[in-house]
Amino acid sequence: MINIPKGTKDVLPQDSYKWQYVEGMAREVAGLFNIKEIRTPVFEHTELFQRGVGDTTDIVTKEMYTFKDKGDRSITLKPEGTAGAARSFIENGMGNGVLPAKMYYIIPAFRYERPQAGRLREFHQFGVEVYGSALAQTDAETIFTADTLLKKLGLQIKLYINSIGCPTCRAAYNKALKDFFAPNLDQLCGDCKNRYEKNPLRLLDCKEEGCKKINADAPKILDYLCEDCHAHFEEVKACLTLAGVDYEIDPRIVRGLDYYTRTVFEFVSTSIGAQGTVCAGGRYDGLIEQLGGKPTPAVGFAAGIERLLIVMEQTGVEIPAAPVPTVYIAGMDADCRKKAFSLAAELRLQGVNAEVDLMERSVKAQFKYADKIGAKYVAVIGGNELAEGKANVKRMADSTSETIAFEDMVTYFQGK
Ligand code: ATP
Ligand code: MG
Repeated sequence: MINIPKGTKDVLPQDSYKWQYVEGMAREVAGLFNIKEIRTPVFEHTELFQRGVGDTTDIVTKEMYTFKDKGDRSITLKPEGTAGAARSFIENGMGNGVLPAKMYYIIPAFRYERPQAGRLREFHQFGVEVYGSALAQTDAETIFTADTLLKKLGLQIKLYINSIGCPTCRAAYNKALKDFFAPNLDQLCGDCKNRYEKNPLRLLDCKEEGCKKINADAPKILDYLCEDCHAHFEEVKACLTLAGVDYEIDPRIVRGLDYYTRTVFEFVSTSIGAQGTVCAGGRYDGLIEQLGGKPTPAVGFAAGIERLLIVMEQTGVEIPAAPVPTVYIAGMDADCRKKAFSLAAELRLQGVNAEVDLMERSVKAQFKYADKIGAKYVAVIGGNELAEGKANVKRMADSTSETIAFEDMVTYFQGK
């Protein structure tokens, strides 16, 4: 037997309605905000992620699924959705079109990670990208989009925000960070020693306990923001309040990518342990230029669908069940079965969810099956019924029966 690859999961037919519910809600919320779907390839040139996610990030240094295709090109399965969307924005000249360009995606993403609860090698994201506006209001609207989805899913999840400034204020802050970490350098993990050299901000993002302890007393970026970045952050907070979004400031949120600027945020659930971040994002004004486009401000987020589903399950959110058959039409013998088959065909064409026997079962076994799949009614056709042109229809909830003529079936079942 061949097993599923480590870190991946099947979504089985009996569970897919949960996914459809979350994805449907995501599309609905996107619609409310006039955000249109973008679909980009599952794989891209590796270089896109090296430049678009950043050479010093965990994603690029250790987590990518990279391979050579038969034409000897280096290809990578997308580890996140922003780089592909940004490439497409540039390649399709969207910057010359209607701005802001608001788009969303629902994608599988691939990262070679150590699989745990809420951490997979293939996982799924709902993401939003807004290109072209530097206004703080846009940051707030984007956060509000995520907040609306979470609320509509019945979740109460805490929002933490921070600002990591612009390259100007970052320079001063990076220096302060290096001064702070220098005396403790040998107590940091290997990754952090590397971060210290290449991207000190990311020292704050380390998940190792030892590093976290040292981080606790590190200087706070908010104390280093330049005047413009400070004003922008104040405006984001004011707009969030206008939108009725509760937030807390967490000066330790820095986000992994190199091109983040100003606002960063995370929605963190306390009910699923270590992998509590269900949604994360921020502003990345440097990204489009970094990828060769003309400078374009951008803000976005991505929510992990698996994590959303885990939180929903753990907090007892009820997901509307998948539809069940309105009627199962049971046939006694071969002729009755044929009639059942053609009646079901007609019902389905008229929008009624109908089922028939595909296993040559006895009527008794058909009843049992109908019950198992949750059919609301069972219509039985025996020799007599066939001769008289009607079926005996039993309502499963209370076992009441009535006789319905074949030609009245559609009217009878429509809307039931
Ligand atoms: P983490 O800190 O948990 O590793 P991240 O910062 O790498 O997350 P992002 O790149 O911001 O995550 O991705 C956005 C969201 O996608 C995360 O908040 C999370 O919900 C989800 N996510 C990220 N990596 C995984 C994974 N390996 N498995 C499942 N969901 C994931
Ligand atoms: Mg990660």
